[in-house]
Amino acid sequence: AKWVYGFGNGTAEGNAGLKTLLGGKGANLAEMSNLGLPVPPGFTITTEVCAWYYDKGKTYPDDLAQQVELALAAAGELTGRRFGDAQNPLLVSVRSGARVSMPGMMDTVLNLGLNDVTVEAIGRAAGDRRFAYDSYRRFIQMYGDVVMGLDHHAFEEILDEVKDEAGHSLDTDLSTEELISIVERYKALVEEELERPFPQDPMDQLWGAIGAVFESWMTARAQTYRRLHDIPADWGTAVNVQAMVFGNMGETSATGVAFTRNPSTGEKALYGEFLVNAQGEDVVAGIRTPQDITEKARLEAGSERPSLEVLMPEAFAEFQTICDRLEAHYRDMQDLEFTIERGKLWMLQTRSGKRTAKAALKIAVDMADEGLLSHEEAVLRVEPQALDQLLHPTIDPAAKRDILVTGLPASPGAACGAIVFTSEEAEEAKAAGRKVILVRVETSPEDIHGMHAAEGILTSRGGMTSHAAVVARGMGKPCVSGAGALRIDYRNGTLSAGGRSLAKGDVITIDGASGQVLVGEVAMLQPALSGDFATLMSWADEVRRMKVRTNAETPADARAARQFGAEGIGLCRTEHMFFDGDRIVAVREMILASGEEGRRAALGKLLPMQRDDFVQLFEIMHGLPVTIRLLDPPLHEFLPKSDEEIAEVAAAMGIDADKLRERALDLEEFNPMLGHRGCRLLVSYPEIAEMQARAIFEAAVMAGKSTGAPVVPEIMVPLVGLKAELDLVRGRIDAMAEAVAKETGVAVSYQVGTMVELPRAALRAGDIAATAEFFSFGTNDLTQTTFGISRDDAASFLGTYQLKGIIEQDPFVSIDRDGVGELISIAADRGRAVRPDIKLGICGEHGGDPASIAFCESVGLDYVSCSPFRVPIARLAAAQAHL
Ligand code: ADP
Ligand code: MG
Ligand code: MG
Repeated sequence: AKWVYGFGNGTAEGNAGLKTLLGGKGANLAEMSNLGLPVPPGFTITTEVCAWYYDKGKTYPDDLAQQVELALAAAGELTGRRFGDAQNPLLVSVRSGARVSMPGMMDTVLNLGLNDVTVEAIGRAAGDRRFAYDSYRRFIQMYGDVVMGLDHHAFEEILDEVKDEAGHSLDTDLSTEELISIVERYKALVEEELERPFPQDPMDQLWGAIGAVFESWMTARAQTYRRLHDIPADWGTAVNVQAMVFGNMGETSATGVAFTRNPSTGEKALYGEFLVNAQGEDVVAGIRTPQDITEKARLEAGSERPSLEVLMPEAFAEFQTICDRLEAHYRDMQDLEFTIERGKLWMLQTRSGKRTAKAALKIAVDMADEGLLSHEEAVLRVEPQALDQLLHPTIDPAAKRDILVTGLPASPGAACGAIVFTSEEAEEAKAAGRKVILVRVETSPEDIHGMHAAEGILTSRGGMTSHAAVVARGMGKPCVSGAGALRIDYRNGTLSAGGRSLAKGDVITIDGASGQVLVGEVAMLQPALSGDFATLMSWADEVRRMKVRTNAETPADARAARQFGAEGIGLCRTEHMFFDGDRIVAVREMILASGEEGRRAALGKLLPMQRDDFVQLFEIMHGLPVTIRLLDPPLHEFLPKSDEEIAEVAAAMGIDADKLRERALDLEEFNPMLGHRGCRLLVSYPEIAEMQARAIFEAAVMAGKSTGAPVVPEIMVPLVGLKAELDLVRGRIDAMAEAVAKETGVAVSYQVGTMVELPRAALRAGDIAATAEFFSFGTNDLTQTTFGISRDDAASFLGTYQLKGIIEQDPFVSIDRDGVGELISIAADRGRAVRPDIKLGICGEHGGDPASIAFCESVGLDYVSCSPFRVPIARLAAAQAHL
């Protein structure tokens, strides 16, 4: 079999298409060589050898050694040298390279092949003994550290001692003699620590380094990184062995890194840094301060030290030409590594450059304008999730961070305000025009108004799917949840962490992107929704098939969603309207009424409030579809708890408080989420559905008149499992429609449909579609009921499931295609079989998750609905899913 792929001198056995086999670095070295760019010759040992190494008890294929020797000889021939030769030795670097770039893997070993004999030979060949010993001391340190496992500090101590003794501040000041003495001391150190000499045989050195690359694939560091980035362990790494070129051959030599465009702003300008008389990682290691590559960047930075452009104009000009060529060839911004040896430029690496969301957007739009990409390709270039960074204020990367504590990055964006500990305080502060951060151990539905009033939310308990996290994401508020090290003392109005204590009123800043909680006010950058963002979104809209709606119940959310491009409301959760201010008392009266009459009286109080809500929403949505879900949560959630609350409701109802308390106790449930909720409430108390339907129809008439753009309300019945449930509720709705039409003289067109959120509903979708004009997949509950896992409790064990590889992803974050997805696809098919034009959509957290959106596209849903701040993400993800 072929285990080794050579490259160099304008050709290569591999190419950029072979990343799986050659790793990213190897495939791109081959590609650059094929393009005729100056790449030092070398070869790549494939990832298949890595797989062999681990499958077969850490051994190599029999014919590997021979293939390596041949490839080594070929590389030597191209450079006019021989590996291990005493007169004219070839030196190489040994570099790891997985399919995707992966910190945590083995560090590169440079100058391999040096020993006490070859060091003199390369010194003679270069006419520079100092350079030879500089390379040798670097080699022993690198090899000792990454291959032999010695602590690099021990080497650095020796280096510092010699520098101190000689009174030098920089490595470049060291004389030949001093370097020779460093080499001697390094070798002695190795021998002392390991009780064997530093390997002098270049072949031994080479196989030691190759083995170390394969070993590094399974280090704890690498495994952790893979787990965090969903990289499978069986990918393996390749090994690149490449002839050395030397950036440390004096003042006409240099090494550097560059991006073809600015990776933080996206600006179209070569951007990078270099060091004269240096090697490899010196630039990133911060040994000396690097210099700017272009004159433009130097001027902008106000640096005194000359740019590469001025210092080595010829090498610079060639480099710039190569940058342009590579960018045009790969049609993407490139991240490059290069070395200049005595004025001659060598390319050592190219890959697609990492960039901020802002840069990604600008680069995609610019490249399309430059004709490098089509609009479709540009749309595919920006990761939808990355837009999150752009839609919220973010902490200025240049700002200083004084970290108090770190929790989970539960909802993106940064927010700053004074600490408050209750929702009431948050509301008061908001009314007084003050900005606050609501700090709670955890939040509950009663905190919704406080969360709305606050700039951001911080909790000490709860995971990424806790109440605080889910609601904050829905509102587009920054949130840090589960900051376990945070101690909150409600009584004294203080919080503390890491030995520091802050009080109510003290200012903090939370960073929902990193989970950091910072002391004081920190500078922020505001989002920009125009320019490149608007351009790319318009291209996305051109190609997408699915509509994107929003989940919204407040005018503020509805307005925000329209600004973000929502094409209607896919889910208006009416119960959220019931927690507001005085309404909760009327709601409690309704729930606790002893009979239908009392209930109707309380509902009568709610009707005008509910109608007003809908009028506002309908006006804002201006003719776009609005799906309103009838009352869904267990009544349990609305029950008064404190004595104060009970007294308040009792007074309003004119009954005895103790009596009321008893009734409230009667209504408590063991398992409310599987209890008296959803359409079950409406079956028990159809007058609730009637009130809500009346409010909807009357509001539709009013908003139709005021805007001239009549909405078509879509009335959604939650938690249906049986067709008969829907039939009963639909009967009441239809009757109310007729009644309102008669009273107002305006017949509103409307639809009645259902949430599909129970497995039974999905399976019996054919029956249900006879009555339902639309289905909306309520995937939060559908996931909960399909798995039988309570999403409020899942955080405590789903993490373990992920660690142990039982599930790959949290099914509450990204849809479980195999199970929940199959139910959705069954329901879609069976529903369409009975009612071909049935409208299908998804609401719930998954509606804003790109992977779930791709699934929705694959089953042909008509729309996705998500929280306002996720609307742009969904627009882009829906476009990508359709391409
Ligand atoms: P990483 O993946 O950490 O970037 P690399 O394998 O790219 O590691 O090596 C790091 C640096 O080592 C390169 O940027 C380059 O400066 C230097 N280097 C690697 N191979 C050679 C070589 N053959 N000649 C000169 N320098 C090299
Ligand atoms: Mg590199
Ligand atoms: Mg539900």
